[in-house]
Amino acid sequence: LFISFEGIDGAGKSTHVQAVADRLRAAGRDVVLTREPGGTPLAERLREMVLHEPMDALTESLLIFAARRDHLQQVIEPALRRGAVVLCDRYTDATFAYQGAGRGFDLAVLAQLEQWVQQGRQPDLTLWFDLAPEVAAQRLARARVPDRFEQQPAEFFRRVNEGYRARARADAARFVAIDASAERDAVWRAIESALQARGL
Ligand code: ATP
Ligand code: C5P
Repeated sequence: LFISFEGIDGAGKSTHVQAVADRLRAAGRDVVLTREPGGTPLAERLREMVLHEPMDALTESLLIFAARRDHLQQVIEPALRRGAVVLCDRYTDATFAYQGAGRGFDLAVLAQLEQWVQQGRQPDLTLWFDLAPEVAAQRLARARVPDRFEQQPAEFFRRVNEGYRARARADAARFVAIDASAERDAVWRAIESALQARGL
């Protein structure tokens, strides 16, 4: 089973992906907790470049898909073959949301790259943390130093969040939208019911 966690910066993905891993491990499941961009030594190096070097949206997309290819081959596919639950903090919906909706890069090109790189591999479930950019920014301001994307204006994150909304509408069977503005307990209950609905 392959579950991805999506949403704008500060929406609560990292907090809750860890909690889901703890819950599933406590229930005796084999869990692989990983993230994108990243998840292998090579992909983590590509991530550092994407986060810190200025580049155009095509270069960025190619590096992110190169990282994804390595991650799929080295980590995700082997884990799924042995029956593990893979929890991934961001996956391809982030590319459509950030590089596509956020930076305005051609969605049709992204769809072609997706086909080449993934050959149909999609998450079975995507938990999308839907949050207004202003709330996310307030949460992050308390938490840490921003990377190159976190310095973008609220308008950028509004486009990214709407990019996620479009993906969620287009693939309603895979997506569960979580109201991430709620307090932590309520967010957790929403996640638990999505997991239970899939027998987890
Ligand atoms: P990024 O993509 O930038 O890594 P993220 O989506 O992983 O962000 P988190 O790091 O999980 O977001 O959360 C951002 C901040 O908001 C953290 O300080 C976290 O403790 C806090 N937070 C998470 N969920 C909630 C919530 N429901 N209410 C209030 N604060 C929250
Ligand atoms: O998931 P995390 O927040 O750690 O991602 C690091 C940064 O990379 C974030 O600021 C996010 O906005 C950015 N990112 C991106 N395009 C992606 C995935 C992540 O710009 N496809």
